Amino acid sequence: MNAKKTISALSHEYIVNDSLHQLFDAVNAISVQGYDEQRRVIYWNKGSELLYGFTKEEATGKKIETLIIPKPMCEVVIAAHSNWVKNNVEIPAAELTLHNKHGDNVSVYSSHVMFTNQYNKKQMYCIDIDLSDVIQAQEQVTFKEHMLETIFKAIPDLFFLMESDGTILDYHASNKSDLYATPESFIGKNMSDVLPKEVGNKFHIHLAKALQQTEMITFEYELTLDHGVAYFEARVNYLSKYQQLVVIIRDITEQHKAAELIRHQAYFDSLTLLPNRFLALDRLTQILNEAERSNEQVGVLFLDLDDFKKVNDSLGHEVGDKLLIESAKRLQNVLRKEDTVGRLGGDEFIILLRNLNEHHNALSIAEVLLKTFREPFNIDDRELILTLSIGIALYPVNGVVASDLLRNADTAMYQAKGLGRNTYSFFTQEMNIVMQRRFAIEEQMHGALERNEFELYYQPQFDLSNNNMIGAEALLRWHNPTLGNVTPDEFIPIAEHTGLIVPIGQFVIKQALEFLSHWQHKQNKKLTMAVNLSPRQFRDKKLLSLIQKTINDLGIDFKDFELEITEGVLMGGQRYIKDALLEINSLGIKLSMDDFGTGYSSLSYLRQYNFDVLKIDRSFINGITINKSDCDLVKATIAMSHSLGLLVVAEGVETKEQLVLLKELGCDFVQGYYLSKPITAKQLINLKSDFT
Ligand code: C2E
Ligand code: CA
Ligand code: CA
Repeated sequence: MNAKKTISALSHEYIVNDSLHQLFDAVNAISVQGYDEQRRVIYWNKGSELLYGFTKEEATGKKIETLIIPKPMCEVVIAAHSNWVKNNVEIPAAELTLHNKHGDNVSVYSSHVMFTNQYNKKQMYCIDIDLSDVIQAQEQVTFKEHMLETIFKAIPDLFFLMESDGTILDYHASNKSDLYATPESFIGKNMSDVLPKEVGNKFHIHLAKALQQTEMITFEYELTLDHGVAYFEARVNYLSKYQQLVVIIRDITEQHKAAELIRHQAYFDSLTLLPNRFLALDRLTQILNEAERSNEQVGVLFLDLDDFKKVNDSLGHEVGDKLLIESAKRLQNVLRKEDTVGRLGGDEFIILLRNLNEHHNALSIAEVLLKTFREPFNIDDRELILTLSIGIALYPVNGVVASDLLRNADTAMYQAKGLGRNTYSFFTQEMNIVMQRRFAIEEQMHGALERNEFELYYQPQFDLSNNNMIGAEALLRWHNPTLGNVTPDEFIPIAEHTGLIVPIGQFVIKQALEFLSHWQHKQNKKLTMAVNLSPRQFRDKKLLSLIQKTINDLGIDFKDFELEITEGVLMGGQRYIKDALLEINSLGIKLSMDDFGTGYSSLSYLRQYNFDVLKIDRSFINGITINKSDCDLVKATIAMSHSLGLLVVAEGVETKEQLVLLKELGCDFVQGYYLSKPITAKQLINLKSDFT
């Protein structure tokens, strides 16, 4: 039988229901196949062509097992089919994996029907639905579940899935130890059923918020665990489509600690661990706010360690640091818990006293503070004495805002320094005026040199043995357009403080030496020039080389130049000052002890260093003709100086009587208004060269 014949024979015996076939022909999505009793294809719709790849022509007449049944299944299929035909045992619907024309797997849901046609022949119809999309989707779900599981395992975060009312449905936790409660214990409950009340409340509030919006909600909370307090961050997402909440919880204890450390560094001084300037002032603002409400009095104490710089310079920063740490401890020990000590920087501290009253007042606390510093410090087996200067400003009388109170306490502290240190001073309005002047001077002094506002005046000195002029002392004058004439007693200490004395001092030296050279030429005489040096100028490394070079360039004798220093320069005992003095000696420059009698008037300095001249301070010369004790003192000083090989200059000679008496007492030289006030260079050149 050829194929054509077979088809027509089959058609004749089996095609039963044309209208049913027409319906199946139109369906592409479902494969419908008809088989005769020998399992040969008698019907093959378009859906079968698409699913299995065989055309209707290719399939018709072929047995099912040669078309779409995989080899291992053939026997079972044949047996089941014949069992159905013979014994009426149905083949149930099932998910099967069959083959297409190319041998690829085709997953189908296969249902089967059998009926007997008018020729009493049995026909089986298979209705197969393609499951590949479904299976692919299922596979994807499995894959996603797998992936999530892997991710959850790798991430330390906790995940909770909740109903929109907060009932916990599911969780994921890779680390189940070290938790507040086991994640299982949350199932079916609310967070507030398990966690402490405050934390439960936080969840309640934020979950409710999450239901209202599409964005993620984040919040933090803390829990006390066995090993201490732990910090957590919760992120809440509402999956509105499923009406479920996803909560992801992360342990942020480490970040929290790091942030805390950074905060600490921003607010606390790393050396003394006290609040720093920023925090101290912030606290002051808070204290003032409270004080305003409760009508309290507040005290702001500005503390400065006396001569701390010297300790640092001579004993080194390590000792200085230890002293600062110990000082901070002492301050803290003296104060009540509610008072604040802060470090403003360097050797400056601030103390904030709250709720001042008769018993707890700024005065008595300042006294206690001074007293605690009377005890020497023991640093590296060395006993060190350190004193304090304290400035006090009170709220509300001396200011109502933090910055004013701080500034006024600072001003009062300056006053305490001026009173001789190791003491305290309350702020007064007059101090403010002094401070304002100070700031104005400081401000104007910048650039004054460039603007040529400085000028040197010269005060001549005379020899009492022959009444001849022997030289002059250079004295600086400052005329500023804003401030007018400012006296050196006022601006020199400020120039020292700001360091501007260094360039100003260089200007003085150059100017004085140039004038000396000119003056010596004019008078054709060996005149001398004295210049004052401040302590700070010794730290100017270029100072001595500048002097040396200028003197050499001008062709002056080193011994015609004189440097005047006060005891204050020597008191610190620093190495660099000793070295500088030795170099001054070795160059042959004269050294003069200025203002003798006002300081310690220590003989040991005069022995220790090579002085050439001693200048008795004006305050003693003033009294010699009225006051016997002053006269005796000056007499003794002259005798002592001569015994040490020093020449003596009397300063501030204002009367003829003083002059006569000084000559009697054996004084060598005189200088003072009686002979001449400090005058300009031009005036000095024209001045008579003796006073008789
Ligand atoms: P000093 O070194 O003791 O200078 C002497 C001061 O006494 C000068 O004041 C002078 O004008 C004043 N004087 C002189 N004779 C008399 C007198 O008979 N009666 C009275 N009442 N006063 C007299 P001046 O010029 O105001 O200088 C004050 C201080 O400023 C100086 O004291 C000195 O320590 C400092 N100074 C002045 N110029 C300089 C400078 O160029 N460099 C440095 N580092 N300090 C200077
Ligand atoms: Ca002087
Ligand atoms: Ca003097």
